[in-house]
Amino acid sequence: MNKITIMSTPPCPQCQSEYVYQDQANLVCPECAYEWNPVDSGEDEALNVKDANGTLLQEGDKVTLAKDLKVKGSSLVLKIGTKALIRRIVEGKDHQLDCKVDGAGEMMVTAQFVKKA
Ligand SMILES: [Zn+2]
Repeated sequence: MNKITIMSTPPCPQCQSEYVYQDQANLVCPECAYEWNPVDSGEDEALNVKDANGTLLQEGDKVTLAKDLKVKGSSLVLKIGTKALIRRIVEGKDHQLDCKVDGAGEMMVTAQFVKKA
């Protein structure tokens, strides 16, 4: 009944297969033939983007605006408390969040101007 797993591998990031095996430094998925280096993927996620409270933000997080924000090139003002969804985190100098903002659509937002919901 009991199976003993000596080494656990993460599921395949492409197809979520659990039959991933290790081939030297790489992990290999036998189902979709995807091969990746687990160390590399760890570095990709090392973007340290924090909100107004210093909370780490991740893609898919729901946030609210921590202050009124003027939209560049328009008269639109996004009010404090407006909800947004983080679609992507980028290594921008002052706009790190690619957000979908309620009532305004897709927009680049500065991480320090939002709070994790
Ligand atoms: Zn796979």
